[in-house]
Amino acid sequence: MSDIYDIVIIGSGPAGLTAGIYTSRANLKTLCIAGAEWGGQLMKTSLVENYPGFAEGIMGPELMEKMRKQAERFGVKMVNENITEVDFSRQPFGVKTAGEAYRGKAVIIATGAEFKWLGLPGEQKLIGRGVSACATCDGAFFKDKKIVVVGGGDSAMEESLYLTKFASEVTIVHRRDQFRASKIMQDRVLQHPKIKVVWNAEVREVLGESKVEGVVLTNGQTLPAEGLFIAIGHSPATKLFEGKINLDPKFYVQRGGEKYQSMTNVPGIFVSGDVHDYHYRQAVTAAGYGCEAALDAERWLSENSGT
Ligand code: NAP
Repeated sequence: MSDIYDIVIIGSGPAGLTAGIYTSRANLKTLCIAGAEWGGQLMKTSLVENYPGFAEGIMGPELMEKMRKQAERFGVKMVNENITEVDFSRQPFGVKTAGEAYRGKAVIIATGAEFKWLGLPGEQKLIGRGVSACATCDGAFFKDKKIVVVGGGDSAMEESLYLTKFASEVTIVHRRDQFRASKIMQDRVLQHPKIKVVWNAEVREVLGESKVEGVVLTNGQTLPAEGLFIAIGHSPATKLFEGKINLDPKFYVQRGGEKYQSMTNVPGIFVSGDVHDYHYRQAVTAAGYGCEAALDAERWLSENSGT
């Protein structure tokens, strides 16, 4: 049997690593199961201009390296493995990877969420070269450019409205003849002078080799554009937690606590970052949630030590 950790953190994006900085600095023996591909979504972004403290911006992977080093400096043990199984039925809780079983008196889930992509040829290759899934992150690179946004939910509305700050024109391509977004967001979009909508169409092809030049739609139309923003939803990484903690209808982790706001319905299991937050989804908010979960877990442990 392995040692018992005070805290086992699952995930190593800004939420998980911030939680680790706080718990290890509070002298709690902390393990971070970072994942085979550690670091989360920021490892796939280029310049991050809105993380406080970096006046000139910082590359996403460099920011994550810095966070990881900061967590390691206070003693977080990092394991670059994926989890395969969890046992939240009794304390100490169990977390398994392919090669090892770990135990923790408390667990912080920070497994994040992934953008859904269309799955078109060329789409992945052009991420960071015109294809994006985050207007707040990348919108500023599209000053006076034409942008196509795909999706009909609140995210697509929000991204489109945000992009009008920069773009000369935003065209939303939606696969049906009505949006599923809330009425108020729809109204704002439909009344906006810079936004057009193409209904009943999907993107069939992304044009451009080294950068986006336009898209071809299933209705045969070609739209010239330098930006293609995909806003068709996210998938929270919660598969292994199904049936073990409460998830909402879209499989995001539900937070249950009043006293400990970041606690799930299982005492001692906490959550932070995009795996529960579908609303803000920013590196800085994820880091904030990581801090919250760490403080909650620390207080919960001190009040429930030995349980
Ligand atoms: P969503 O509500 O699931 O909407 C996804 C949209 O993408 C739908 O319009 C869907 O089309 C479309 N879509 C899905 N797969 C597609 C594909 N392969 N090709 C083309 N289109 C595709 O996701 P979301 O907008 O990210 O919102 C998720 C949750 O967060 C919602 O509960 C939303 O209300 C909430 N949210 C709230 C706010 C806010 O309040 N400000 C902001 C963002 C998100 P169909 O409509 O045809 O299914």
